[in-house]
Amino acid sequence: MLKLQTKTLLALASVMLTLTLVITLASLASFRDFSIRAATEHTRTAAEMIRVALTESMINGTMHERDSLLKRIAQVDGLDEARVIRGKLVAQQFGDGLALESHADTIDLQVLASGQPVYTLVGGHLTPEFRATIPYIATSRGDVNCLSCHAVPEGSVLGAVTLTASIEHMRTAAILTVIVLVGATALFSIISLLFLRRLLQPLVTTASEIEHAVRQAKTGDFSVRVQQRSNDEIGAIARHFNSLSEGITSKLSEIRQNVAHLVQSQPLENGDLLADTANTVSGLVKVAQFKQAIEEDESSEEVFQRIGEVLQDEFHFETFSIYEVDQLKKQIHTVCVDGIAQAPIHWCNADISDKCTACRAVRTGHFIDGTENNLICRSFSTEARQQHKTYLCLPVIQSGGVGSVIQLVLDHTDVQRAERVRPLVESYLREAAPVLQAKRLMASLRESTLNDAMTGLRNRRFLEEYSDTLVNQCKRRETAMTLIMLDLDYFKKVNDTYGHDVGDSILVDLANIFRANVRESDLVIRYGGEEFLIILPDTDSASGMLVAEKIRKAVENHQFKAGGVLLNKTISAGLADYPNDGQAFWQVLKFADVSLYAAKERGRNQVVRFTPDLWVSEEKY
Ligand code: GH3
Ligand code: MG
Ligand code: MG
Repeated sequence: MLKLQTKTLLALASVMLTLTLVITLASLASFRDFSIRAATEHTRTAAEMIRVALTESMINGTMHERDSLLKRIAQVDGLDEARVIRGKLVAQQFGDGLALESHADTIDLQVLASGQPVYTLVGGHLTPEFRATIPYIATSRGDVNCLSCHAVPEGSVLGAVTLTASIEHMRTAAILTVIVLVGATALFSIISLLFLRRLLQPLVTTASEIEHAVRQAKTGDFSVRVQQRSNDEIGAIARHFNSLSEGITSKLSEIRQNVAHLVQSQPLENGDLLADTANTVSGLVKVAQFKQAIEEDESSEEVFQRIGEVLQDEFHFETFSIYEVDQLKKQIHTVCVDGIAQAPIHWCNADISDKCTACRAVRTGHFIDGTENNLICRSFSTEARQQHKTYLCLPVIQSGGVGSVIQLVLDHTDVQRAERVRPLVESYLREAAPVLQAKRLMASLRESTLNDAMTGLRNRRFLEEYSDTLVNQCKRRETAMTLIMLDLDYFKKVNDTYGHDVGDSILVDLANIFRANVRESDLVIRYGGEEFLIILPDTDSASGMLVAEKIRKAVENHQFKAGGVLLNKTISAGLADYPNDGQAFWQVLKFADVSLYAAKERGRNQVVRFTPDLWVSEEKY
């Protein structure tokens, strides 16, 4: 790329060069023209003088001395040769004359024949000479009548004189003039160039400074300023450019500071301010969209799932864990590992599961940076350490405690990038924290309405919500489920004898006996005051009878603490199965209740399996 200054100077130089050339050529041409004109006049005068001298010689009778006359004339400064040729008519009248006078060359002959003078340059470039051959024409007019001596007609050619004059001195003068002219032009050119350069300098320097500043601005650096060198338009451009840059920088810094405040991270010192800000703003927009999405999510599981998706899709983390912490039970469990929901603990030692404080992020509530010191948390899995993995663990504070922990598992090549995006990841987590807290609260509230506070068992409301699921499960698996209705025998007596508190504690003990004697998948429900319902999915009534009997025996053998004494209590139970006894859940429940009633009727402390006749007898009631 040619610089502006070079271009301008080149243009000016070529103009000057052309000008010099034109001046030189014009001077040379006009000098040549002038030389020829001057020489023509000069020789014409000389020719006339020779003619007068010859005529004078003729009149005075000294024609025989004309040779020496011509020689003397030839010695006149500026003349090289002077020669006279006789015309044919003169030769006929007076003879050939001197040797020279008859020795005509082609130009002489041409002049003698035409009567027209010939002026020409001869002698080549080095020693140029001007030659003039001028005819003498016979005339009776004028001071001397030619025809008085020459027997020739009026107007005929008597002879010709050839004069040769050197024009070298003129050429030298021309060359000298041209040298002076060229020198003057060159000097003028140099002065002009210098002046122009001086004139252009601020423009060129300002332009190149602006170019540099714009180039820097493209990389996000708006700090470059342009020096104001003059008070003209160029100075104004520099001034306006600077104030524009300052405006952009200050506004951008203000925006960036505000954005930084939102993300809680400072922009990079030497980074691209514009690109950095634009990225952060679009990151924040995504955070806002994320917030809206999780608020409308149904459960905290969905929120965690979404956090996992953000880590994978937005930040391209492949290995990570999302832990949920139960501060009451001091337990921790994985919600998501490497994007897989409910996967077991993978990147930490499994023993954190029952001792959440083994997780340093949970214990301290601080961000844990394993990239600086891999051993900072002892619970990071040894296997992962061997794979040269490291970690960043971000606690999510909910209700004043650590509710969950996001663990980013990194290769060493990933550390820098992770550090860079961490503020934005934390922005997501800040938005997620209150939502998770609210979801957890909602879940526990809901849980509490479905549980019985005293025994910790499910309550009748839970059954109302869950019965359809149980029925659908049975239908899908094509299995039966057994419903056992249980009631303490003579419980009123306990209350009456030992008081309500003792009665309550017996109910709590009873609940524990039930729980201990059924499978994890079975449901124990406090159906009424001292009435319980046990649902055994995937169990027909024959197997159900065994379970009910086992429970009855367990209660029978248990010694309940009643104040200072130990008490033995019994229960009665009625059992029915879905779908063998009835096609509707609530009908089967009724049949179990009817069977319980039968057990009471038959003497208590026993289990009665439903038979259709029991329902008839009930109807009789
Ligand atoms: P039966 O063998 O016929 O069942 O005799 P029962 O005395 O147990 O009679 P019933 O089942 O009708 O008695 C229900 C009693 O259970 C009434 C009430 O005093 C007692 N009860 C119900 N809920 C509670 C409770 O939450 N706490 C205590 N302490 N007692 C309760
Ligand atoms: Mg009862
Ligand atoms: Mg009872």
